[in-house]
Amino acid sequence: MKKTKQDEPASDVDQAADEARKQEFFGKTGRIKLEYPFEEKPEPGEVIEVAPGILWVAMPLPIKGLDWINLWLIEEEDGWALVDTAMNMDETRSYWETVFENHLKGKPITKVIGTHLHPDHIGLAGWITRKYDCDLWMTRSEYIMCRMLIGDTGKPAPPEGVDFFAKSGWTSEMLDHYRNRFGFFGKMVWAMPESFRRLQDNDRLEIGGREWRVIVGTGHSPEHACLYCEERNVLISGDQLLPRISSNVSVYPTEPEADPLSDWLDSCAKLMEEVPKDVLVLPAHNKPFKGAHPRLKGLIDGHQRQLERLWQRLKEPASAVDVFGTLFFRKIGQGDYFTATGEAVAHLNYLYARGRISRELKDGVWIYEAIT
Ligand SMILES: [Zn+2]
Repeated sequence: MKKTKQDEPASDVDQAADEARKQEFFGKTGRIKLEYPFEEKPEPGEVIEVAPGILWVAMPLPIKGLDWINLWLIEEEDGWALVDTAMNMDETRSYWETVFENHLKGKPITKVIGTHLHPDHIGLAGWITRKYDCDLWMTRSEYIMCRMLIGDTGKPAPPEGVDFFAKSGWTSEMLDHYRNRFGFFGKMVWAMPESFRRLQDNDRLEIGGREWRVIVGTGHSPEHACLYCEERNVLISGDQLLPRISSNVSVYPTEPEADPLSDWLDSCAKLMEEVPKDVLVLPAHNKPFKGAHPRLKGLIDGHQRQLERLWQRLKEPASAVDVFGTLFFRKIGQGDYFTATGEAVAHLNYLYARGRISRELKDGVWIYEAIT
């Protein structure tokens, strides 16, 4: 689940403002040019071999502005390891049946590896592991957090959640929207396996006779696993490194004082050290690309510019909702409030933790102000 999207088409005026903000965001260096070795993505139910023994599967997503997710099959002698699974929908299960029937050379899935807990990645892990009687491999924090969020399904919205969004500046109408939507997570995820195999940072897995190293990143999710194969010079990056959209980095009501943006920036810097410049990145969204280092540098610089712009904006006191226009290119519609608020608070908490802004509760809303 990624960056905020627009709910409704922008007007011409919005689009002009959008362009101006984009130029400001990307600065003088302009957009970074990445190399995309594959022109087309596979059709649903089809595969494309991106490296010897590594197949690319793409599945549709019902998320505006995030049309599809990439999943990866790695051939082993006795079957296939699968990295990520797509969201739990009738449509995606039926596409998987087609892939299993037509493209696995009659071999089974031997293991399912989940990069992280988000439903577009883990949604069908339970379905596939039960179908093939194989294990789910994940980091512990991701597995536990996933089970916890599924456990919230069907429960009423907690007062802590309502409090968090009220303090961010939500109207009572928006809070009702949150209450009505709460507990949606579990509906997009097939019943998870009741046990799992733990992945940890720097673990070395043997898949298909080759070594794949686990590189953990944080900030987008608690303990996101990327997989790097030196021999193939391939990085399966999940949502930790995407070519076009910047991954959502959010504060959630369960930990309102969290500073995930620090974690995220550290993880981008770490990933730059862990993989070579010419690595082929297999991301969860958009197409495989080369140019990991400039992309990671661009992400770090982009957030730093956002933080600077935010600090300038806060010379005039404002709430989290008030700064949407400073942080996001696009107009934020009702359906985007949750992620936009999480991301705005992530940037605010980063500045607050460093003593660059102050905050004060006014009429139940946090009002932030730059310390000059
Ligand atoms: Zn994600």
